[in-house]
Amino acid sequence: MKKLGWLMILCLILMSCNTQEVNTENNTTDIISNTTETNESFGGSNDSTNATEEETEEEIEEEIEEVEETEEVVDYTALYNEYKVNEIGQVIVIMYHNLSDKEGTYASTPELFRADLERLYNEGYRTVSMSDLISNTIDIPIGTTPVVLTFDDATKSNFYYEEDGTIGKDSVVGILDEFYETHEDFGRNAIFYVYGTNPFREKDLLQKKLEYLIENGYEIGTHTFGHDELNNLSAEGIQKTLGRNEQFIQTIVPGHKMRHLSLPYGLRPKGELESNLYNGTYEEITYEIVSAVNVGWNPIASPAASKFDATSINRITCGSDEAELHYWLDYFVDKPERRYYSDGDPSTVVVPLDQLESVDDKYLEKVITYEESGDE
Ligand SMILES: [Zn+2]
Repeated sequence: MKKLGWLMILCLILMSCNTQEVNTENNTTDIISNTTETNESFGGSNDSTNATEEETEEEIEEEIEEVEETEEVVDYTALYNEYKVNEIGQVIVIMYHNLSDKEGTYASTPELFRADLERLYNEGYRTVSMSDLISNTIDIPIGTTPVVLTFDDATKSNFYYEEDGTIGKDSVVGILDEFYETHEDFGRNAIFYVYGTNPFREKDLLQKKLEYLIENGYEIGTHTFGHDELNNLSAEGIQKTLGRNEQFIQTIVPGHKMRHLSLPYGLRPKGELESNLYNGTYEEITYEIVSAVNVGWNPIASPAASKFDATSINRITCGSDEAELHYWLDYFVDKPERRYYSDGDPSTVVVPLDQLESVDDKYLEKVITYEESGDE
């Protein structure tokens, strides 16, 4: 193991002399941190790195010669190819509503929801928050794919308490918490879009629920106050329904701002009226919205892509019909080259060289490109 650790370090030394794939000094640093993580993820011994200062220079030179002879330089191109790293690939955002006994276009059952989570996990998807998606601060292991879970309407099935005070086993939050206990690396992220004065339909418990969500990494988004058709409202009407919803939530959890919006029925104000979605005021309450999700039906561009638009995020419905969740999961099994695969480092954007032009200009400083081996 010790020798393996040394080889890694020496490879880094050699890498720094041969950084053709690396554009800037910053990226070199990123690559070094990548290597450390990779070593850990392969189960490499961390003890080996502690030995650094105890070794003599002669030994280092010997090792360098040995490495040069065998030419076993860490090959990032091979590593990225192995994990199909593609941070310009497509991402899915899933739209759920309530869980009930019967499956429907918008409803799932607790059993089907558990099965969705199982499949997502087994196929390498890891949850991220809406905030991390839109800011492209996706922090998941190398070779995995981000997924965002969204829930509209805040029905009771999303979050209820049992009589004994525990969280409902068959509620969305209960199921997510349970799954997280046994699959910690899946992450515990979901956003609940709430409206009106009775989110989750147990008024006495609302404060407890909202606080629980906030404290445990879940997000609360707005779905307007009256579940309104936003395409039919004036500027004042839009500001009123969003401001009132914000105002109500602030009375329950003061200081907590909702920054993400789900458009009821997917309806969007036309033309200049749309700007009222993102900033507005109602009775001294101001709101600021940074993302808006639509209804259906396809995966979205990577948040690192110039095509990505945080104010118009399409979501796919749960289910197995055409253009629903399992349809798209099958699609990415067939077409892995279209899918986002992380390099495990949120500070870099690693993309196959031929897709560099899709990257948004604001991420160009973070880009590392590589040549695909072309065995597809
Ligand atoms: Zn709704």
